[in-house]
Amino acid sequence: MDAANKFISFNPGPSQLYLEIEEDIKQALEEHVLSLSHRSEKFGEVVRKAKENLRTYFSVPADYRIFFVSSAIESMEIALRNCCAQKSFHLVNGAFSRRFFSSAQHLKKSPLHLTAEEGHGFTFEQVKIPAECDLVCLTQNETSTGVRLPYDFIDNIRKKHPDKLIAADIVSSAATERVLFELADFWFFSVQKGCGLPAGLGVIIASKRALTKARVLAAQGADIGSYHSLLSLDEFSQKHQTPATPNMLAIYLLGKRFKRLVQVGVEAVEKESFEKAKTLYGWLDNQPALKPFVKNLADRSFTVIPIVLPEGKNSNLIREALKPHNLTVGSGYRSFKDSQIRIANFPQHSKEDIKRVTEAMDSIVGS
Ligand SMILES: *Cc1c(COP(=O)(O)O)cnc(C)c1O
Repeated sequence: MDAANKFISFNPGPSQLYLEIEEDIKQALEEHVLSLSHRSEKFGEVVRKAKENLRTYFSVPADYRIFFVSSAIESMEIALRNCCAQKSFHLVNGAFSRRFFSSAQHLKKSPLHLTAEEGHGFTFEQVKIPAECDLVCLTQNETSTGVRLPYDFIDNIRKKHPDKLIAADIVSSAATERVLFELADFWFFSVQKGCGLPAGLGVIIASKRALTKARVLAAQGADIGSYHSLLSLDEFSQKHQTPATPNMLAIYLLGKRFKRLVQVGVEAVEKESFEKAKTLYGWLDNQPALKPFVKNLADRSFTVIPIVLPEGKNSNLIREALKPHNLTVGSGYRSFKDSQIRIANFPQHSKEDIKRVTEAMDSIVGS
């Protein structure tokens, strides 16, 4: 297949896979790592390298631990069970932050919330967190609405509530920008979006305070989970293992993917992500028929760009029309399924890919 016409997915997730994945899968097979015991020294080396490459790329502070789980939704449950003794407080600005909130309801954490209008972020002045809430949950990049919470907003919450733990969902920004780890205690993401990997792996990056809290909760007899608690994850992680047999191929590929990303460096990846986002939003400004869903510039995600379609054009129509171009975009999320499309801008999407999708869109909806 001609490289200039190869299939590219701009669906936010699962999204386009990273360019060299085929090579890395072949290598995994050649090295026979997938038939090893997950308790073997050789597979432990695969786990260790994956953690090391993640740590190097993101500059994860030395006192933060890295754990592998199954998904981001699972990570929400682990955060709530292990880091919330009383009530959780949720900043809700879309479907994934709402999912975090409903997990807390299921787990009987009596959660409270501040809900933003769809397509909007929060102002710091709006945020009033009651004293009885000991865990603050937020979605740094809301994939459903394309709203990004700036790091200085999280910093303000941290400074005002130094006693509370913060759990931050970075599923659709992970790998695309620097993460200011000190501002929260429990960061998590899954790998099928910004990391360009197949689905089926979640990553948790947890502070010492998060682990201490889990230890205190367990000592008090709280239910911190029997499958993946922070304590069982930590116990096995010290031996570069996981409590259950993990998705070994995904961990192998994650290690390879981040080794490649380390060679580029997070600053360069971030710079290119911002530039591509600027290209996309600039293109949108010149499209009278299309509108960005997120109006306030400061609230706009760099990585997920929801676009409001004109009357009479629904997302299926656009997606069908993109097929001959060998491209796909995401539909809107849930209630916006028909009226919006979403274009993802991840590190695996090159500048040329962005150009291809905007040109194809021009030919479909262009003035
Ligand atoms: C996709 C997504 C999730 C869910 O990820 P899973 O891997 O399906 O658990 C959670 N949060 C955000 C922000 C997402 O984009």
